[in-house]
Amino acid sequence: MEKIYTSFEEIQQELKNKTSSCQTIVASYLQRIEQNKHLNAFLEVFADEALEKAKEIDAKIAQNNAGKLAGMVIALKDNICYKNHKISASSKILGDFESLFSATVVERLLAEDAIIIGRTNCDEFAMGSSNENSAFGNVLNPIDNSKVPGGSSGGSAVAVKANLCLVALGSDTGGSIRQPASFCDIVGLKPTYGRVSRNGLIAYASSFDQIGPFTNNIQDAALVMEIIAGADEMDSTCSKKEVPKYSESLKTHTKSKITYFKSYIENEGLDTEIKTKFLAFIEQLKAAGHTVEAIDFPYLDFLVPTYYVLTTAEASANLARYDGIHFGYRSPQAFDLESTYLKSRSEGFGTEVKRRIMLGTYVLSSGFYDAYYTKAQKVRRLLKIKTDEILSEYDFIISPTSPNTPFEIGKQVEDPIKMYLEDIYTVHANLTGVPSISLPLGKHSNGLPFGIQFTTKSFNEQRLLAFSNTLLQNKN
Ligand code: GLN
Repeated sequence: MEKIYTSFEEIQQELKNKTSSCQTIVASYLQRIEQNKHLNAFLEVFADEALEKAKEIDAKIAQNNAGKLAGMVIALKDNICYKNHKISASSKILGDFESLFSATVVERLLAEDAIIIGRTNCDEFAMGSSNENSAFGNVLNPIDNSKVPGGSSGGSAVAVKANLCLVALGSDTGGSIRQPASFCDIVGLKPTYGRVSRNGLIAYASSFDQIGPFTNNIQDAALVMEIIAGADEMDSTCSKKEVPKYSESLKTHTKSKITYFKSYIENEGLDTEIKTKFLAFIEQLKAAGHTVEAIDFPYLDFLVPTYYVLTTAEASANLARYDGIHFGYRSPQAFDLESTYLKSRSEGFGTEVKRRIMLGTYVLSSGFYDAYYTKAQKVRRLLKIKTDEILSEYDFIISPTSPNTPFEIGKQVEDPIKMYLEDIYTVHANLTGVPSISLPLGKHSNGLPFGIQFTTKSFNEQRLLAFSNTLLQNKN
């Protein structure tokens, strides 16, 4: 019988008891990937290589010198570099480009004997909330194949939910880990900005981007964080703060002081049933002895516009390097320098990416710089001050992760504003740099899941993970 694993502990137990081996585990994941090809979660599967690596690690286990992640099968979002492997950011413009080096996170995972099984589909350059902006087709939600899995790290979320790997990495610039985790009913963590190195992550908006894990439970997220987080001389924005042993202290009985924003709950775009169930969840928290208070947060309407002004500005600069010369795709119609730029970029980028490059170029143009870019920077600062103030008084801010359950494929793709409003509750953490997690705690009467999001102060992942662990354990 095919074995499905939902925690690393089960795998470690079997490896220890010799009831399974890394080779058997990898083979069974490969089989499930084959059976679930219709989900389109993977852009490439490193089958032979993963089996080879599994064999090596089995030998290490036999000699008792395997790393901490021996037996953990991991997928990478296709914007995280893995040396000598293709990387496309789900864009045509990277063509057959292969990474020349591995991201720091990848090196750290490999050093602990994780097995990388493939690269996952995502929205092009991580821009999107439904995985419908991929040049390689959309991804299906395994819970209901007519629905989107969320985005932009849709393939990573689906790979974990459908048991095509144990853990996947994604990147979160405005919700791209938490929202797909919410849509696929799993755990998704966006760490503090600067907790995890961005070296080797294809940049979308550099002052927002963070890499983080998708997992079935908190223990696995904590363990992966322990390995990938921490100082890196290749990323000067990466903090030198010591990384706690997150996985070793996940039990907590501490009562927390929690807040939620009235404006979030009164938001018209919030599904009424999510609202009712969210408020009922708050009652449960109170019954469990936590303090939960509603407060005013008058900035809700500024979040999405500020996010889109600043991220498109950064994206327009970051994506200037795809010029038809340095990387991947060059238009066959190019005949001189200008036509190389123009035609390669026009043909190589998809609609949403082009929209954002143009928006970003506009907000940075000399006549509009102060009106948009400078103004948005000031709002960002204001949000940061206000958020730090709230988080010095409260342990956590709680909210729904997304205003809706997963929507129909194709339904919102023509309406960018509606799509941007999907990010209304998630962009706050990226604008202010604080860590935030989506937990699979809700089920709608339409049969679909919705996540609950907890946000805390910078570098407070330990507390966030321990608290999340207690909540999920009490749920089961
Ligand atoms: N949905 C958001 C966007 O399209 C978030 C993307 C992300 O976090 N990478 O920008």
